[in-house]
Amino acid sequence: MLGNMMTEPLLISGILEHAIQNNSKTEIVSKRVEGDIHRYSILDAAKRSKQLANALVNLGVKEGDVLGTMAVNGYRHFELYFGISGIGAVLHTLNPRLFPEQIDFIVNHAEDKYLFIDLPFIPIIEAVAKNLKNVKGFIVLCDKENLPKDSKLENLMCYEELIKDESEEFDWPTFDENTASSLCYTSGTTGNPKGVLYSHRSTILHAWYSSAGNAMNLTSKSVVLPVVPMFHVNAWGVPYAASMLGCKLVFPGPFTDGESIYNLINDEGVNNLLGVPTVWLGLLNYLDEKDITLKNVNSVLVGGSAAPKSMIKDFQEKHNVFLLHGWGMTEMSPLGTLNQDTAEMDLMELDDRYELQTSQGRAIYGCQIKIVNDEGGTLPNDGKTFGRLMVKGPAIIERYYKSSESALENGWFDTGDVSTISPDGYMRIVDRSKDVIKSGGEWISSIDLENTALGCPGVLEACVVGVAHEKWDERPLLFVVKNSDECTKESVLEYLSDKVAKWWLPDDVIFIDELPHGATGKLLKTGLREDYKNHLITKGD
Ligand code: ADP
Repeated sequence: MLGNMMTEPLLISGILEHAIQNNSKTEIVSKRVEGDIHRYSILDAAKRSKQLANALVNLGVKEGDVLGTMAVNGYRHFELYFGISGIGAVLHTLNPRLFPEQIDFIVNHAEDKYLFIDLPFIPIIEAVAKNLKNVKGFIVLCDKENLPKDSKLENLMCYEELIKDESEEFDWPTFDENTASSLCYTSGTTGNPKGVLYSHRSTILHAWYSSAGNAMNLTSKSVVLPVVPMFHVNAWGVPYAASMLGCKLVFPGPFTDGESIYNLINDEGVNNLLGVPTVWLGLLNYLDEKDITLKNVNSVLVGGSAAPKSMIKDFQEKHNVFLLHGWGMTEMSPLGTLNQDTAEMDLMELDDRYELQTSQGRAIYGCQIKIVNDEGGTLPNDGKTFGRLMVKGPAIIERYYKSSESALENGWFDTGDVSTISPDGYMRIVDRSKDVIKSGGEWISSIDLENTALGCPGVLEACVVGVAHEKWDERPLLFVVKNSDECTKESVLEYLSDKVAKWWLPDDVIFIDELPHGATGKLLKTGLREDYKNHLITKGD
């Protein structure tokens, strides 16, 4: 028997209408690429999103058309989030840090009809424009005076000119909540990038559960600074969640160094921050240098890569802020687990608590997790056994964009991460499954080895990859960028010898000038693995 309740579709336009009714005065503040500060209310944002919606309809944009954006975090990007998805078109956010051939591939694969571009990214698009088959026009996110006169792009338009004479009224269409709303490509360390096509339903459910009590610490009193880019998994869904709750939003534009972030925090009364560890390292270093402390901040969410213990400790002891460690991925909208403050933590010795906080936390409601072996058999949640981390939930991918095959294995999505899960649900990432080293049937965590090596004097950066070995199948090689001549192969191995199991010790330590990083700042191990694949075989070890 079915229930008797309404089946009101979950649509992104509904968030904006809710905000107009309930939080119309809430401010949105943006540091613009032009360098100045822009400030308006969510009501102004909603009116301009409706002007944009009218302009898109006049341009002939239809439901299902894909429109690309290459833009920083700012108010015009926010208007695109709502205006594009609101009419049933698809917001495709492009990462400007991708290689030109990836941008070219992605824009063609997605069949973007128009591209909305922030001023600093025009040269990136100019460099690939001749290959973009479906793009009918380029809209620069600027005022008339700033529109470049000498651009090589054909059919160049100015965003402000495009919307200025349009009506501020727009009746959002109603459609199936499973309609596509936005598209984000994973950077793809191997092969071509793959598209994750979110729906209105998945976006709303994700924003809902990630902003519920005990999740991302958002309330109507929050002043939120998402440093995580709006071109990266919809800035972790924050533009939607903040608009649901009426949080003040502060967008940093392209200025994400410690000093700029600190100034915005201070000037705007920011109390909730979200971003990747490197951004927080920059902020902490700046605060140390100037000998200042954070005053109003009550939540810093860190994800994208592991939060180091020293960072957790610094935020707590120097700034009295609990570092909220989270894990997720593009395919998951992105949130999967969060390491929230608990009553148990209050009773723990500080160092034990920090150690617990280095784990990625417990599954949020909306995401189920489990670990399995190579054959798909479920492994125990004993905090020790490693396995492939599988997830399931209403905001998790079923298949990649335009793929004819499901991405699932028996109804679960393989995250490509290897982890443990403790009896009380704490998940700890051990490695990426392609990076874990399988030596003689046992697994060695490349991340653990890297983190341990980082403690050795003179080691600035460390990267471990598994390479072929005749006897053990695979053995670890350690690559080091050093900042002292005293750091040698012998000193590193000596340092590691009493900190990791003997069979985990790398077979060689290789010093290099720089480690390869991908478009989202993560270590790119593929090249090193390929270049050094015979390193131990030819050496006859
Ligand atoms: P994002 O960087 O936004 O989380 P990506 O899809 O680019 O999304 O990358 C997802 C991968 O990043 C995860 O599968 C995992 O390997 C890694 N990752 C994300 N958060 C963490 C974390 N807190 N600790 C360790 N690794 C993480």
